[in-house]
Amino acid sequence: MKSYKLYINGKWVSSSSKKTFTSLNPSTQKPIAKFQQGNEKDVDRAYFAAKSAFESWSSTPAPKRGEFLLETARILRKRKQELGKCIALEMGKVMPESLGDVQEAIDIFEYMAGEGRRLFGITTPSELRNKFCLTTRMPLGVVALITPWNFPIAIPAWKLAPALICGNTIIFKPSSDTPLCATKLIEILEEAKIPSGIVNLITGSGNIVGNRLITHPKIRGISFTGSRATGLHITQNAGLKKIGLELGGKNAIIVMNDADLDLAIEGILWGAFGTTGQRCTAASRVIVHKKIRRKLESKLIKRTKKLKLGNPLNKNTDIGPLINQKAIEKTHRYTKIGINEGAKLLCGGKIANGKGFFYHPTIFTNVNPKMKIAQEEIFGPLLSIITVKDINEAINVCNSISYGLSSSIYTNNIKNAFKAIEKIEAGIVYINSSTIGSEVHLPFGGVKDTGNGTREGSLGIEEFSEIKTVYIDYSGKLQKAQIDIS
Ligand code: NAP
Repeated sequence: MKSYKLYINGKWVSSSSKKTFTSLNPSTQKPIAKFQQGNEKDVDRAYFAAKSAFESWSSTPAPKRGEFLLETARILRKRKQELGKCIALEMGKVMPESLGDVQEAIDIFEYMAGEGRRLFGITTPSELRNKFCLTTRMPLGVVALITPWNFPIAIPAWKLAPALICGNTIIFKPSSDTPLCATKLIEILEEAKIPSGIVNLITGSGNIVGNRLITHPKIRGISFTGSRATGLHITQNAGLKKIGLELGGKNAIIVMNDADLDLAIEGILWGAFGTTGQRCTAASRVIVHKKIRRKLESKLIKRTKKLKLGNPLNKNTDIGPLINQKAIEKTHRYTKIGINEGAKLLCGGKIANGKGFFYHPTIFTNVNPKMKIAQEEIFGPLLSIITVKDINEAINVCNSISYGLSSSIYTNNIKNAFKAIEKIEAGIVYINSSTIGSEVHLPFGGVKDTGNGTREGSLGIEEFSEIKTVYIDYSGKLQKAQIDIS
């Protein structure tokens, strides 16, 4: 079986732990390849490399740094099919969605290459004569990127591209479920000739590699995407580093009685069962007006029962596997919880027969908004239907959770649409479209327990830069702010 290495200071090297771990194909449960089980010493080596590379990279003009990003985008495009297959193999995402994952990476590298010619500060008059004020951006220094498995190319790219354009140097720790995708991405940066030491890859467990990164005294920034539990652990242990957290979701689609029902059904299927429900923006709740509940359920069940589970590389597969055995157990545990809580199972609720981590798409109705299946992130193909009497109740139910990432409303009534835009507690609101489908030139992120207020996408440079305020006094005399007023 092929064995891959860590990437430190521009070289592929073994871990000082001398241990490896295996990545599995979730469709077959067969091993894919071996990867280094990185440890604290490897993180320290990577830190040294990143620190040594910082001076030169941060003083490279930002438009010049952008050229490396454009070259990365070009190679990503050239190798799009290969990377798409890699995602389908290692993470189980069906091929069109895997290619979409790569496309998001291409988009963010291209977008951030352009940021190299902007990285704007502000200029402003001073309150004193012959004095001028401006702000400029600085990189943070060495930053750590810690990523999940569900967008194994796009999420690392969403962090790498802004971190690089701002002039930071990087230690990247990917999820232990998708180290092959991470390794391929680093190969592409190497092919784009990003100089040594600027990006370093350390595979290995969150408890060891991740913990060393978050507690390292010299690392200045942590950009994390993953579960709320790990996000909390980071805030409690990372000290005064700049931290960006993109955490979970329990996203809802509201369907009003004036909606185009067939359009809403398409959006629900895509939101709930796309990526097998394993998106932070997946729709796991449908909040439906009581007048159309029965009609919606009957159309939805009919369509859901036709969805085909299978090999993500096959053209006619609709739903791939879950990521691992733990995810199967978790989803099935929530099915049992839903039944015990008194919700009505409309379809699914079963682990699929045979090899691979497949679970039948599952829909519950008669769900009370307080039930666990309506409150907690399951991260699998399990959808809860909640019935409401009007728009106000719909919005209250939508907001009755601790998360606040994405949301959607299907309605043809402009008052309902604007009420939803104004009152829904979420970082993203879609009107007449599903809960998924972010574009890189807009901000991405959530409110409440979904994070700590940072935004990725177009606002990624905020996360990876600091502001420096500059006062230029050309009066030739001492001028005291707030005291010399003339
Ligand atoms: P996770 O278990 O929190 O893991 C995420 C990353 O953190 C992995 O690389 C993991 O390493 C690492 N990690 C684990 N323990 C750590 C520790 N003590 N210190 C530092 N790092 C540690 O999350 P996941 O299961 O991979 O991803 C699913 C979650 O991500 C869901 O909650 C989903 O909603 C969320 N997500 C959010 C967004 C968003 O933008 N808001 C996007 C995608 C996913 P190992 O793999 O080695 O354990």
